[in-house]
Amino acid sequence: MPTDKLDVLLAVLPFAPVSEPVLSVSILKAVATEAGFSAAARYFAFDFAERVGLRTYNNVAAKWGSLPQIGDWIFAESVYGNRLPPPQRYLAYLKTSCLAPAEEVPDEGLRRLRMTISQYFVKHVWPGLLDARRLAPEIVEQWAYEILARQPRVVGFRCSSHQTCSCLAVARRLKMSPRPPVIIVGGPNCHRELGWHWVRCFPWIDYVCTGEAEEVFPLFLERTLRQDGALHIPGILSRQDTEPSVPPPVCDLDRSPVPDHSDYFEQLASSGIAAEMRLPVLPLESTRGCWWGEKCQCAFCGNTPDGIVYRSKSASRVLTEIRQFAREYRFGHFACTDDALDMKQIATVLAKLGKSHARPPFVYQVRANLTRHDLRTLHAGGVKGLVPGIESFSKTVLRLMRKGTTGLANIQLLRWCQEIGIETKENWRILYGFPGEPPSEYERMAKLVPLLTHLSPPDAVIPFNLMRFSPYGLSPDHFGLIDVRPRRSYSFVYPFGRKKLGGIACHFSFCYLDGRQPFAYTRSLRRQVGKWMKLWQTSDGNHPRLDMRVAGDDVVITDTRPCAVRRTHRLRGLSARIYRQCDAVQSRDGLLKMFGSQAGEAAVKKSLKTLVANKLLIEDEGRYLRLAIMV
Ligand code: SF4
Repeated sequence: MPTDKLDVLLAVLPFAPVSEPVLSVSILKAVATEAGFSAAARYFAFDFAERVGLRTYNNVAAKWGSLPQIGDWIFAESVYGNRLPPPQRYLAYLKTSCLAPAEEVPDEGLRRLRMTISQYFVKHVWPGLLDARRLAPEIVEQWAYEILARQPRVVGFRCSSHQTCSCLAVARRLKMSPRPPVIIVGGPNCHRELGWHWVRCFPWIDYVCTGEAEEVFPLFLERTLRQDGALHIPGILSRQDTEPSVPPPVCDLDRSPVPDHSDYFEQLASSGIAAEMRLPVLPLESTRGCWWGEKCQCAFCGNTPDGIVYRSKSASRVLTEIRQFAREYRFGHFACTDDALDMKQIATVLAKLGKSHARPPFVYQVRANLTRHDLRTLHAGGVKGLVPGIESFSKTVLRLMRKGTTGLANIQLLRWCQEIGIETKENWRILYGFPGEPPSEYERMAKLVPLLTHLSPPDAVIPFNLMRFSPYGLSPDHFGLIDVRPRRSYSFVYPFGRKKLGGIACHFSFCYLDGRQPFAYTRSLRRQVGKWMKLWQTSDGNHPRLDMRVAGDDVVITDTRPCAVRRTHRLRGLSARIYRQCDAVQSRDGLLKMFGSQAGEAAVKKSLKTLVANKLLIEDEGRYLRLAIMV
């Protein structure tokens, strides 16, 4: 245990993913150091992963992380003791509310084991979670002891996802010591008005930062450690504050220091889990916010109003970070944290990287508005995988959720990625349950899915999550969402009533004003997607194919999808030309104009009809897209 005294210790607690440094912690360490304070990040998450086993840890942090509050539940007893419902009630809740709906998506491994997801969870996952919960009080004590021994004057916790109760447990234990440090908490779980409620619900927290911290954190340290008196810093709240406030968002990202990830890599190297892990991934932030959301936030998107403001680092700054990190750290790939890629950076960053020899691979989150040329540039620049915001194949549903894309554009993106060699498998999902969505659109999508089984499948079909800061969350009545209440899972980790839970909850349950039942009307879509996923869960990596190659003027297509009309198609003349033209989405009018003058409109219409009937081309409201992948 290091014995150096610290101004500030930044604690990273379970269930932060152990596979990567926490970006905001690395930024705050750099910010504090630059301001002349001694600072360190301590990844307690490694200790817990070592004690409970990496598999159980990752089960909670990633695989089963979608189960509500599971990480919080493990540490909740360390905060509230027997004031919480017994574990068996939580298990019953998980089985009925979360695991039962998932049973519909077949899992090849479970099928071989002849088990349902619930049975697997109860037999192989739940015992590990109970052990982890039993271990929590002892390890919280150890962490508190270690922190107190280092005598930091300030301890900072970053709370994101299901990381709240581990932070609360350690903070509470620290405050029981005779000379406790000042405790400050930040992160998405306590942004904006959540922070206001946090300081009231959790009396052992001294301060909460309610938004982006890097501009106010040095000021906070300065006033706490070097000056006496009240803080009066917008966005840093204590119980004495009489009104909520939010820190100003960072306007110029180039002024934010280069994140210091050194503590993560040093501690990982000496931890007992390093040998079991693949190389870490490294977060890379080139933008913040979302350029689309700034003008039209997707209705389900939970970004805060200040967080969604779009900002980009300059190309030279991004390239500097990439080169510096590649020199300093050993990692597998860059995981870009951007919600929406800056289109300018395709030319200014990725194109430049494409010309350099030493470039680590990247994974980016993107919207479906990329062209084939963009994707080629991304691929040449080192992008090996994309996390596309697909969400639906229905233009109507996408319009309702204000996504600003179409179903055909989404399919076009998946196909181009596959042609170019960019991985999207299980990197995206289909959402449902949007107020006003026509159930018939789900029937239509269920009929479309068998035609798409040669493309990388999603990882899930799930209802959208009602988040506090989303347009749906901010104005539920406007969208016909009623009886909005904190998700039931909160009642298993906090011994609070509904009103108090409502102040700290980020995720909510609701009913529909029109009484709709999306789970019922999306059944056939879920079944079809389940079959699609199963077709890709093969041990030999084989999956259905719909390949095309150009042979002179002809196009030869091989179709091994279960829905194939026949195995081989040879397109000639007009059909071949139309098919090649439909690489990108085309309108009927455009195709008639392009080919009608030579071949006649009737012939063009007939070709389109035949290509659609043969399941090689799809049509949506007079727009066409080819499905086959050029090999
Ligand atoms: S969901 Fe994605 S694309 Fe939509 S506003 Fe949010 S960040 Fe932007």
